[in-house]
Amino acid sequence: GSLHQSVMTLSNTGPFNEFLPFPVVPAETSLLNKLIRTSLVESSHAVEILQRDPSSPLYSIRTFEELPLKKELLQGIYMMGFNRPSKIQETALPMMLAYPPQNLIAQSQSGTGKTAAFVLAMLSRVNATEKYPQCLCLAPTYELALQIGCVIEAIGRFCADIKVTYAVRGNRVPQGTVLKEQIIIGTPGTMLDWCFKQKVVDLKKITLFVLDEADIMIDTQGLSSQSIRIQRALPKSCQMLLFSATFKSTVREFAEKIISNPIMIKLREDELTLSNIRQYYFVCRSREEKYEALCNIYGSITIGQAMIFCQTRRSADWLAVAMTQDGHQVAILTAELTVAHRANVIQRFRSGKEKVLIATNVCARGIDVQQVTIVVNFSLPTNQQGEPDFETYLHRIGRTGRFGKSGIAFSMVESRDVVLVEMIEEHFQTKIKQLDPGDMDEIE
Ligand code: ADP
Repeated sequence: GSLHQSVMTLSNTGPFNEFLPFPVVPAETSLLNKLIRTSLVESSHAVEILQRDPSSPLYSIRTFEELPLKKELLQGIYMMGFNRPSKIQETALPMMLAYPPQNLIAQSQSGTGKTAAFVLAMLSRVNATEKYPQCLCLAPTYELALQIGCVIEAIGRFCADIKVTYAVRGNRVPQGTVLKEQIIIGTPGTMLDWCFKQKVVDLKKITLFVLDEADIMIDTQGLSSQSIRIQRALPKSCQMLLFSATFKSTVREFAEKIISNPIMIKLREDELTLSNIRQYYFVCRSREEKYEALCNIYGSITIGQAMIFCQTRRSADWLAVAMTQDGHQVAILTAELTVAHRANVIQRFRSGKEKVLIATNVCARGIDVQQVTIVVNFSLPTNQQGEPDFETYLHRIGRTGRFGKSGIAFSMVESRDVVLVEMIEEHFQTKIKQLDPGDMDEIE
């Protein structure tokens, strides 16, 4: 819709948090993943409940109909194409919609349905006949706030009387403005301004408070203290929901500090494995020879979709230019591109308009490329000591055991780096087979 459009265009203003002069990379990665996501991330793990008030009954649901949702919302859910709740939604939704309202801290990796869950809670809790802010939601960046708004508009499309407004930079409200929207989404700084300086929001009337992407908030200076200031001014009876993709001790401490008596739920991530991946390497004498080897396999790799990883932006640029000059169509993803541009490149790749995507480590880190079946390491990932970066290797080519498809990985190494291949084999107890650069008959 039009809001989604504005996420894409407005992020052209730069990947900057409103208070900080440097890029907030985790927030960008999270946004990119949200923009490119075509489906729910499945997990084979059960939801763990870490803590709960023994007096509160606990149950999980299998269908959306079992929830106390109004029919407009069920319609909205079906229009979204959601047939059944995700793992985290099965457990979180009954708790979030229960009476009396319960506080909840939920952690699951991105893409598992957290946003859809709290959007449903907000749309359920508001009293549409009352025209003042009742649900307040904080997100770490402007773009992420707008993205949540898109989900509200989509799921709430049949709730004609429910309106949303955005407390984000550039959206000015003069003092004395009377806000009629029931849901306010914003970043902590602007929200603080609206509540305490402009005084256009009466925090005492908020009945549901959502804090999204808590881990990113905590890592970004200023955001957590601003969030706490807002949260402290809420009434005791206000329901508090906190979401995070990770659950480091800092996140847990923060969550426990601001949320009293919460139920905590957690979904473990599926582990990555190399067991269903065929791994090969080529020994080359120079960058040019690596390039030749790459061109030799180009025909084979473009049967599917391939990602080629380079260690530096310069080598990524060099490779993209060389391949393009040789008539191969490639797209490139580097960190100097704006978020909007990167989202666009990834979307084109996802939709199949691009077959080959060249990326640098830094840029691709954290971006969900699980659907890619062929990965080329134009150079192996290494750390500052020149040792293999095992984690990055695994993230690039590994797949989750249960849902993962098989894949192929090629690594180009110079003779002195063959030892890196051996170290990777040793580390993962896996086999990486050597191929002759001229010989592709080996792989069927
Ligand atoms: P998170 O907030 O955990 O990152 P989202 O709520 O954004 O996850 O959901 C990830 C993707 O899955 C989105 O594209 C969303 O529309 C979709 N999705 C969410 N819940 C369901 C569901 N129950 N069934 C199918 N798709 C869903």
